[in-house]
Amino acid sequence: MLHRPSPNFGPRRDGLTPTIIVLHYTAMPSAEAALERLCDPAAEVSAHYLIAKSGVVTRLVAEAERAWHAGTGEWCGQHDINSRSIGIELDNAGDHPFPDPQMIALEVLLEDIRSRWPIPPENIIGHSDMAPGRKSDPGPRFDWARLARRGLAGPTRPPQDQTCFTTAARAAGFTADVASEVLLETTRLRFAPWRRGPQCADDLKLYHPI
Ligand SMILES: [Zn+2]
Repeated sequence: MLHRPSPNFGPRRDGLTPTIIVLHYTAMPSAEAALERLCDPAAEVSAHYLIAKSGVVTRLVAEAERAWHAGTGEWCGQHDINSRSIGIELDNAGDHPFPDPQMIALEVLLEDIRSRWPIPPENIIGHSDMAPGRKSDPGPRFDWARLARRGLAGPTRPPQDQTCFTTAARAAGFTADVASEVLLETTRLRFAPWRRGPQCADDLKLYHPI
């Protein structure tokens, strides 16, 4: 693992410790360009880790500190996600698949982080999951089902209430207060990025079957 300390961090608030991991893509042309931005004091953004397409992992902020990656949002009724989470940036411009070495490095890093902090699979989420309508990373090309099969993403079971889409989405963790169309787009991005058209019965399946 490489180390490239970013100045963009602060203390976690209210004594909070990591219980969530947020995955991002960089939306930049290269890992080097992303590292420069994540270390630029003027940009006021950072993450704990960046994983290059080659699988090389760079640590920018210590896990005990609060990195600036999530911004405004909500997951499972919880706010200040930066104070509760570890942020991982994946080198990806946003329009292409994530190479195998990068995914393998991500899986190893997730296991490693979970050996230090109690983070359940259902709290390994995308930036879009906690910021519906505002963020779309890690995007439709990210292989969530692969992580779910390894117990590194959830939920893996259907929600209890499968009659009302909004209720089911909230039960699955999507609690941010947004219009139902935005919620539908967000949950599709996560569970069925190929799906189009009006809401259908399959939209109530807010999980990755194993
Ligand atoms: Zn992001």
